[in-house]
Amino acid sequence: MFSISADPAGNKDQTPRKFAFRAPQLPYTVNDFVFGKLLGVGSYSKVVRVKKKDTEEEFALKIMDKRHIIKENKVSHVKTERLVLDQLCHPGLVRLFFTFQDAQSLYMGLECCHGGELFYQMMKKGRLSIDEASFYIAEIVEALEYIHGEGVIHRDLKPENILLTSDGHLKLADFGSAKIMKPLPNGFIQNDPEEKTTFVGTAEYVSPEALNGRPLTIGADLWALGCIVYQMLEGKPPFRAASEYLTFQKVMARDFVMQPHFTPEARDLVNHLLDLDPERRLATGSMGYAALKAHPFFSRVKWSQLRESTPPKTA
Ligand code: ATP
Repeated sequence: MFSISADPAGNKDQTPRKFAFRAPQLPYTVNDFVFGKLLGVGSYSKVVRVKKKDTEEEFALKIMDKRHIIKENKVSHVKTERLVLDQLCHPGLVRLFFTFQDAQSLYMGLECCHGGELFYQMMKKGRLSIDEASFYIAEIVEALEYIHGEGVIHRDLKPENILLTSDGHLKLADFGSAKIMKPLPNGFIQNDPEEKTTFVGTAEYVSPEALNGRPLTIGADLWALGCIVYQMLEGKPPFRAASEYLTFQKVMARDFVMQPHFTPEARDLVNHLLDLDPERRLATGSMGYAALKAHPFFSRVKWSQLRESTPPKTA
């Protein structure tokens, strides 16, 4: 895995041997790629579209400056993202193909999502139709079902971290804030049973239990999902205020209004995801994700053919 070391060649792999990574750290250098468009900028990375010179394959190269990562205390973020993306594999997650490093930077070769962030689609479209929203939410639900089944909680689920492929399907990205609750296929576990939910991520999608210091569960992602359902149908997130503090007050008070255009099914789904009690949110009960997928909001969704069906037209 990435080791942030002063190794000038940058290729020394200090991974404990018991870890078997699917996406290897390769002896690549930036000279192996033709650099294209800047795809995005995060708090500790920039992501550029690149083409591998010998194979002509295209990737989204996530470039992270080592000094910046250390200065900003993001070492564990980078390691977590690397571990999670490396060990999980699902059509609803951005795929990691390889990593490399040099003296200045760490590089992750990711599957390129040409359609950009779901956030931009939502901004351009304003309100989504029920058909559009139910399709997109269904794809997010499938991805969450998979990561939660693998014991991973995303913790920063929001439209900026959900990307569109060129054909308009969705993929979850940015696993830097994730929590690993049970051993990954390579045996890695990060769970601390005493750990309380803390505020990581983004104020508008943070769960009330995170603000109350209650134990961390998959409920955190389900709350964020509820916020996204609402946002798709309303054009803005349910909890938005002039400051982070005021946003938190709204979250704790569950202070949001659903306008008359919310259908009864949409209203019921939002209410069952934005439940103040994380254990009552849909998908956390004994029926698990079957309960969420059977919700009438998804009545037009063909779960078994989701990835083969035609996604909504992009704006
Ligand atoms: P954050 O500040 O949210 O923690 P980060 O530094 O972890 O950000 P990312 O969120 O992973 O960075 O990436 C930054 C942006 O780059 C994304 O919001 C997205 O617009 C773009 N991006 C990331 N990965 C890809 C990809 N695989 N394909 C296309 N664009 C991508």
